[in-house]
Amino acid sequence: MTTTFADLELSANVLRAVEDVGYKTPTPIQQQAIPIVLQGRDVLGIAQTGTGKTAGFTLPMIDILSSGRAKARMPRSLILEPTRELATQVSENFELYGKYQKLNYALLIGGERFEEQSRLLDRGVDVLIATPGRMLDLFERGKILLADVKILVIDEADRMLDMGFIPDIERIVGLLPRIRQTLFFSATMPKEIRRLADAFLSNPKEIAVSPPSTTAENVQQFIARVSKDDKREALRRLLQSEEGLRNALVFCNRKRDIDAVYRALVKSGFNAGQLHGDMPQPTRTATLEKFKAGDIDLLVCSDVAARGIDISGLSHVFNYDVPMNAEDYVHRIGRTGRAGKTGRAFMIATPDDGKYVDAIIKLVKRAPETIAVEGLGEVAEDDGAGRRRRGGKRSEPSANGAVRERQAEPERQAGPERQAEPEPAAEGEADPPPRRETAGGRPAERSRDEAGRRGDRRRGRGRGRDQEDAHIPGDVMDERDDVPFAKADHVPAFLLRQVSIPKPSRNSKEAG
Ligand code: AMP
Repeated sequence: MTTTFADLELSANVLRAVEDVGYKTPTPIQQQAIPIVLQGRDVLGIAQTGTGKTAGFTLPMIDILSSGRAKARMPRSLILEPTRELATQVSENFELYGKYQKLNYALLIGGERFEEQSRLLDRGVDVLIATPGRMLDLFERGKILLADVKILVIDEADRMLDMGFIPDIERIVGLLPRIRQTLFFSATMPKEIRRLADAFLSNPKEIAVSPPSTTAENVQQFIARVSKDDKREALRRLLQSEEGLRNALVFCNRKRDIDAVYRALVKSGFNAGQLHGDMPQPTRTATLEKFKAGDIDLLVCSDVAARGIDISGLSHVFNYDVPMNAEDYVHRIGRTGRAGKTGRAFMIATPDDGKYVDAIIKLVKRAPETIAVEGLGEVAEDDGAGRRRRGGKRSEPSANGAVRERQAEPERQAGPERQAEPEPAAEGEADPPPRRETAGGRPAERSRDEAGRRGDRRRGRGRGRDQEDAHIPGDVMDERDDVPFAKADHVPAFLLRQVSIPKPSRNSKEAG
């Protein structure tokens, strides 16, 4: 028999709010977690975004907190999120599901004014949703007292680890009452996360749900192999030739490239926006709102900024850069093809990207379909060991003036020995994104200042040995407000070069 929300012992007010949202049946994590949370037990949830885990903890929390009142500066529950966007999303969930209850919420994220946040706290909040850095800042200023926290949620713990937030989390947990309910969620369980879960949780109920079908049948995947200098043109042509394109995320690996790609697209007449961690928070929020409302069609973004962002009906994802971590590819393309809808994901690969493409194919166990971009030559691919692979076919115009597709080449299947590892940056090239070290200096053991020193990571020393360890987003310091971040001071050479390629038939206002 199917479980319904009514079977989960939620209050009439919460059930009414859920009905208003239109959810028919609880997802597996909701079915398992909600009764346990309502019983007051700790939960260790192994689940990623897209599984419905947010409602899995917000719905029962609303009911638990509906009795009792918050005192000034003493939040009754605390939710820690790794990014501002996720924190904002969680607070929106509370607004939505808690609309028939009288609870006070506060969102503490970097980039917002201290005074306003402090005023909210003075009023007394039932639910405080925060990123770790900003939460500690306000605590240190004496604006928050944590002695009344009865429920703690640590969300996306593995992402917190990637971002170097674990020392902050450990500090925050040390400031909380020992008697409390703790809900701990992570998509993966590397050793360090397991250690934290053991330390923070008391006799937890462990709930693991399988990830949503991120790379499954509902997302069609394509790869276009082009030369480095043709990347921008390839993106433009793919965007122009995709007939069902409603809205798309365009992922870049480096923040400085995001701005350059965004400008090139706007100059070409596309309705684009950008999203990355160097932007002021109000601009980030406004941009995201515009994208969600359909006022912007294309959003050029970083992995961290777009992590977990839930945009219903996203039609396309473009990997302008091949992600250096295969898991990021899964997260990126999982933004589309959600909730039973179909989506299309494109990846633009250059000869240098061979081993990263192989790592992706190995992880998702499926090769994206190779496509040629009309008018652009397909190029040979470097396999990462200095060998060039076969390729180099010049494409022929297709009947509809769009891209011509052909079958993936069997030799592109990843060999077991190939792993995504960064090469040291060649002189004059853009730096690779920072890597997390595992040997002798994990971020978990670093101070914030140390975490800010990125030169060693950029050279790719001390690489991770397993999948979790190898996983690091392109701009891990995105959400740290206290670490100076290099501003975009470099425009990649390929964006400055004049391209002399025949223009496609429609909408071809040339950039730069
Ligand atoms: P999350 O994993 O919490 O990020 O949720 C992913 C998406 O699933 C969000 O768009 C939610 O609004 C949606 N969602 C959550 N619970 C349900 C449900 N029971 N039925 C349908 N959609 C849901």
